[in-house]
Amino acid sequence: MTKKEEPPPSRVPRAVRVASLLSEGEELSGDDRGDEEEDDHAYEGVPNGGWHTSSLSLSLPSTIAAPHPMDGPPGGSTPITPVIKAGWLDKNPPQGSYIYQKRWVRLDTDHLRYFDSNKDAYSKRFISVACISHVAAIGDQKFEVITNNRTFAFRAESDVERKEWMQALQQAMAEQRARARLSSAYLLGVPGSEQPDRAGSLELRGFKNKLYVAVVGDKVQLYKNLEEYHLGIGITFIDMSVGNVKEVDRRSFDLTTPYRIFSFSADSELEKEQWLEAMQGAIAEALSTSEVAERIWAAAPNRFCADCGAPQPDWASINLCVVICKRCAGEHRGLGAGVSKVRSLKMDRKVWTETLIELFLQLGNGAGNRFWAANVPPSEALQPSSSPSTRRCHLEAKYREGKYRRYHPLFGNQEELDKALCAAVTTTDLAETQALLGCGAGINCFSGDPEAPTPLALAEQAGQTLQMEFLRNNRTTEVPRLDSMKPLEKHYSVVLPTVSHSGFLYKTASAGKLLQDRRAREEFSRRWCVLGDGVLSYFENERAVTPNGEIRASEIVCLAVPPPDTHGFEHTFEVYTEGERLYLFGLESAEQAHEWVKCIAKAFVPPLAEDLLARDFERLGRLPYKAGLSLQRAQEGWFSLSGSELRAVFPDGPCEEPLQLRKLQELSIQGDSENQVLVLVERRRTLYIQGERRLDFMGWLGAIQKAAASMGDTLSEQQLGDSDIPVIVYRCVDYITQCGLTSEGIYRKCGQTSKTQRLLESLRQDARSVHLKEGEQHVDDVSSALKRFLRDLPDGLFTRAQRLTWLEASEIEDEEEKVSRYRELLVRLPPVNRATVKALISHLYCVQCFSDTNQMNVHNLAIVFGPTLFQTDGQDYKAGRVVEDLINHYVVVFSVDEEELRKQREEITAIVKMRVAGTASGTQHAGDFICTVYLEEKKAETEQHIKIPASMTAEELTLEILDRRNVGIREKDYWTCFEVNEREEAERPLHFAEKVLPILHGLGTDSHLVVKKHQAMEAMLLYLASRVGDTKHGMMKFREDRSLLGLGLPSGGFHDRYFILNSSCLRLYKEVRSHRPEKEWPVKSLKVYLGVKKKLRPPTCWGFTVVHETEKHEKQQWYLCCDTQMELREWFATFLFVQHDGLVWPSEPSRVSRAVPEVRLGSVSLIPLRGSENEMRRSVAAFTADPLSLLRNV
Ligand SMILES: [Zn+2]
Repeated sequence: MTKKEEPPPSRVPRAVRVASLLSEGEELSGDDRGDEEEDDHAYEGVPNGGWHTSSLSLSLPSTIAAPHPMDGPPGGSTPITPVIKAGWLDKNPPQGSYIYQKRWVRLDTDHLRYFDSNKDAYSKRFISVACISHVAAIGDQKFEVITNNRTFAFRAESDVERKEWMQALQQAMAEQRARARLSSAYLLGVPGSEQPDRAGSLELRGFKNKLYVAVVGDKVQLYKNLEEYHLGIGITFIDMSVGNVKEVDRRSFDLTTPYRIFSFSADSELEKEQWLEAMQGAIAEALSTSEVAERIWAAAPNRFCADCGAPQPDWASINLCVVICKRCAGEHRGLGAGVSKVRSLKMDRKVWTETLIELFLQLGNGAGNRFWAANVPPSEALQPSSSPSTRRCHLEAKYREGKYRRYHPLFGNQEELDKALCAAVTTTDLAETQALLGCGAGINCFSGDPEAPTPLALAEQAGQTLQMEFLRNNRTTEVPRLDSMKPLEKHYSVVLPTVSHSGFLYKTASAGKLLQDRRAREEFSRRWCVLGDGVLSYFENERAVTPNGEIRASEIVCLAVPPPDTHGFEHTFEVYTEGERLYLFGLESAEQAHEWVKCIAKAFVPPLAEDLLARDFERLGRLPYKAGLSLQRAQEGWFSLSGSELRAVFPDGPCEEPLQLRKLQELSIQGDSENQVLVLVERRRTLYIQGERRLDFMGWLGAIQKAAASMGDTLSEQQLGDSDIPVIVYRCVDYITQCGLTSEGIYRKCGQTSKTQRLLESLRQDARSVHLKEGEQHVDDVSSALKRFLRDLPDGLFTRAQRLTWLEASEIEDEEEKVSRYRELLVRLPPVNRATVKALISHLYCVQCFSDTNQMNVHNLAIVFGPTLFQTDGQDYKAGRVVEDLINHYVVVFSVDEEELRKQREEITAIVKMRVAGTASGTQHAGDFICTVYLEEKKAETEQHIKIPASMTAEELTLEILDRRNVGIREKDYWTCFEVNEREEAERPLHFAEKVLPILHGLGTDSHLVVKKHQAMEAMLLYLASRVGDTKHGMMKFREDRSLLGLGLPSGGFHDRYFILNSSCLRLYKEVRSHRPEKEWPVKSLKVYLGVKKKLRPPTCWGFTVVHETEKHEKQQWYLCCDTQMELREWFATFLFVQHDGLVWPSEPSRVSRAVPEVRLGSVSLIPLRGSENEMRRSVAAFTADPLSLLRNV
């Protein structure tokens, strides 16, 4: 690269050289004389020039002695920007001196720098290549580097040397210009296009004047002053991949590198904190860069964007296997995940496994473009400076249509393509696989080998891990098609509306994380801001020509409006960008702030989602989501949050009803910390919001959680269940129903004050996440908490306005007239109060049913609840009278119908019976029975958490799950709930009328419930309809497995036996002619599971497992195998028929009418938050000791 590497004669001792590292006298040319003299003297007398070199050179001698630290080989720790040319040059001296100084000069794509020696890490000066306007030869092997207002003169050793330098510089300038022609970097004239994370003045020890310091990306740049910063001429920059910062005292902090310590002092403690934070951010960025990006950049083609050629691309498409720049990445996203799966080299660290990195080294941009860009006409090629629309067109053509690809010779011949793919994946020829897939070979084609039926399986068999990785990443990739429809729903492809606005805004430096603290007024700087042509630019003042920075509307992902007075400015708003930056703006005037928010929103929200702009919002933006049953692919949707309403516009659907966050059944976070998914479950809807971008996701997460919490003290401001009952009331009532109905003096006895208070506090905070458990909460504490909550309601349950009319009504003498007055008054209550009154009275009605045991008859309850509900002192009995009347006339006042009442009774009876049984067997159970039910198959995304009331049947559960996931039931869809026993490898379709709760209690930890279609049901129903009688007999293969005390005693293999099944029992005969049955079981006590575990080596795959529990709770199991599937279905159908008296499947009308269970009194199906799984498991485990004891009692 260079001709002269040897150091110059060391004319000055090293310490002195170090001391003058930043003596700026020399770099100023021409008219800046005053400054330089001053600067030159500024360091005199400061020991060691203020740098802490001595201790460092002691501790790090090897580093100091090493060759130029920035010239190391590629792949080393620091060189990210390749050096174009480096060598010794004479630099013209500062004014007044004629002695040229030898300088080590280095040129890379972005900077021309010179150093005291080739051993120095930090330059004396750097000049942004973007700022060089001209390079000129000036005789005597000299040349000048001319910027807008500075000229730097250098002298080479020879004319050849000078020519080389000038050529290198001119080429770097030309490239820089091409890259930046239309980009902000060029307009700004500042180094790099990146906005500083923080910039401002800082004292640096050893310097008389403050320096202007900018933290940009992974670098800390030092400038003499703000002016030089704008000119792009700086002192040096510090690569933070080797940096470390720590505070020294209140205002000072050290930036330590292996080569130097930079001791800074800020103006205030707060500023010091901010500088530390910004520099730590730069370190984090540098480290993340060096980990993945540098490894991937080790392959030369990967150092430039595969699409536009921009250097240092830090994004990638993991299925196309190309490395791309941020701008191209934005457009790749627009293509959809079916074409390109975009990941960041820096931020999505988890994605980058060793295998994937290796794949990028082997395929990457080289192979990728040899295939995808084999025929790009020059007129259609992209430049780093190409406009977004050009970029979009090019990328559509390149990847969606495959317009420029190299056609495989087998193109068009599907069969041959598939064959070739199956062959290629077993080799190391990844490029061939890429070409075949890109030309239409079927990724899931059948290989013809049952052992390894797919290309992926073949690759695995052949041990080709890279092939496997490539295939996996392309599982859902669409084959490019020239005629492919351009998806209309891609909102980012839609031209954004043009909005113009301008004015002064106060702005803070952008941040890489959420703003937790109040930003003081002093932290904002006044900026002239202009919104126009899809760009928000901010300027030093209204006369400035070049902006300090800009935010593209297409890069804005979220706009948030914090509550007034959150920061030093009364009104603020936050702008989040695709690149995970957060900009905070402030204003005095509410009106102006509102106007800005409106304009910015208009500028980045596409017409598709403009409905969201119709109302005020606290947060607005786009997020990847999954919804409905199509959980395969995340799409990007538009969301707005106002109050507790979350509105969403999905690209492929009609405008959705807003989600009522306070009425959510579940709000939880799934996934690990790097891959979070926010799950929102509303009745009939489940929405998954994915945390693909961290920063704005965290903002949404906090805002949604806050909006889903109770807002205030009135009833309707609480978290609500789906019957409009506050969750807090529901939780308590449900717990008392489950555990306290028979507790003596329930509601009269007081709980412990401290416990009651603590409980009430946590319920008020987030009732949805509170799970009351027997053993942990005493019923009296819970009952007291409920009473306290009702008594403290600011407006009361019956409202201040109407309270008196209720009390007056209690004095009406005529009973009938009084009841109708109550009915009248009830209608006048706000809906939430009305629903709560009903739920509460219904509950008290149940409580008094057990007055024999709990001693709480209607009168006693009225004495307690009258003053509580009416918030009176209890001096007269009017309030008590109302409560008494409401309980006594419960059925009439609340129009409770027979069915509702019957259900309620059934439920209560079941609960009490179960409790008695539980007490008898010494087990306790939790107040809530939460069950995880899967839809179609067991995996995280199909999980549903559902509360199982005692009365719930398998059919109700099935419908509830389908309903919640919005699955329509078609004719001949026999949706059924199955109990799956993983250990036994067997499953049992529950009978539609079977109660779920006892089954749930019997489930072991290796069992689960899944709702899916019963594939054999139609055949079974046909069979049953075609035959007469309810018996079946025939030969089956039989094996016994007696489990006593958990000891499995295997008893040989399968043997032929003759069976007779009739309406009362199943009999087993040794052979057809036997007279006396060998065994006999009552049919109704059998549980029949489809399937036999493989370990037992069943002779056919048409087997079933029969479980029988004896009187002594001895569990016995048999395995039966049929010769054909039809036979199995016939046996199974007959079992169902005799066990359920001929009712095998509900008649269709009943199914339809029950599709939406209207009333489920006392069993409002609230699904508590996740996290209760383990608790449930524990409660289930407690039952498994005696699994079937409950079954008999219910
Ligand atoms: Zn690019």
